[in-house]
Amino acid sequence: MKQPLFDGSVIEAGSSLQGIDERLTAYTRIFLLFLAGVLLFGTAAGYLIAWKLTSGIERVSDAARRIADGDLSLRVKLCHEADEVDQLVNAFNAMSENNEALVTELRTVTDDIAHDLRTPLTRMRGLAEVTAAGKPDIESFREMCGAVAEECDSMVQLINEMLEITRTESSINRLERTELSLTELVRQAGTLFSELAEDRKIRLETKFPADHEIKIRADKLKIQRLVANLLDNALKFTPAGGTVTLSLSERDGAAVIAVRDSGCGIAPEDAEKIFKRFYRCDASRTLPGNGLGLAMVQAIANAHRARIELESSPGKGSCFSVIFPPEPEEINS
Ligand code: ADP
Repeated sequence: MKQPLFDGSVIEAGSSLQGIDERLTAYTRIFLLFLAGVLLFGTAAGYLIAWKLTSGIERVSDAARRIADGDLSLRVKLCHEADEVDQLVNAFNAMSENNEALVTELRTVTDDIAHDLRTPLTRMRGLAEVTAAGKPDIESFREMCGAVAEECDSMVQLINEMLEITRTESSINRLERTELSLTELVRQAGTLFSELAEDRKIRLETKFPADHEIKIRADKLKIQRLVANLLDNALKFTPAGGTVTLSLSERDGAAVIAVRDSGCGIAPEDAEKIFKRFYRCDASRTLPGNGLGLAMVQAIANAHRARIELESSPGKGSCFSVIFPPEPEEINS
């Protein structure tokens, strides 16, 4: 600072910058030390996180290799190393669980198919042996050919049904959805099955709201198949003099198709199993069938996001209800 005096001279005052310089140097040193600390800590933390992530990923890839070698039951242990690794482990374990279930199911189905094909093949072999050992007359050969053709037809039907169930389940056959009048479908099914019901001396009733039509967006052929399989079973497992009712109604905005019968009923321990391929309750093994009808019903219901409810009392009868979702336009979206 400069200040002129009375006599013309100037007085100049100032202060030394040495203190500020020293403080600046001290701050710079502290800042550099802090920076070095942050860098050190950051590197260590980064290394730790990377190590945790890679060790988690290594565990998953090691498990994947061992599963590929055949150990399908192997799962990765959750070690809570990092959220991302935990998510990966959970997703991997869920996928392994599904794969194991699918492979087990595939093995069971293959065994069942082998069993179901072995029986008619053995019958055909027996027929051929008996015919060959018997008198060489044309009539017995004709009979054998007829029986063999019948066995072949039923084997082809079984294979076709299996393929159709698998395709419906895996949505290879995309649904041919159209606006479908369930009222009309139920009416037609009642007419179609009336003759069979009459032959078996069973009363077949159909019930649907008379004042309005119930429509959904669905695959007509598949829904016809679903209703036919349920009606076929109801008529098969109901003795003469009984009643089968096919009804259509609405429940909380959902369309419900129900097939009720006064037949033999289903034991509680069989209720879950009957929807599996080839499962037949002991009491029905003497009746015609291959145990695929309800597996098909389940596959069609699943493809339409419909739910199946079963109420049954052994000796009194059963009721299978198929509940279609209230917003059918969402199907396959
Ligand atoms: P299938 O009728 O060819 O035996 P399904 O898959 O249609 O095969 O049915 C599986 C089994 O479930 C039947 O064998 C029978 O034991 C039982 N079942 C199905 N529907 C009924 C019913 N309405 N009443 C009693 N039992 C039934």
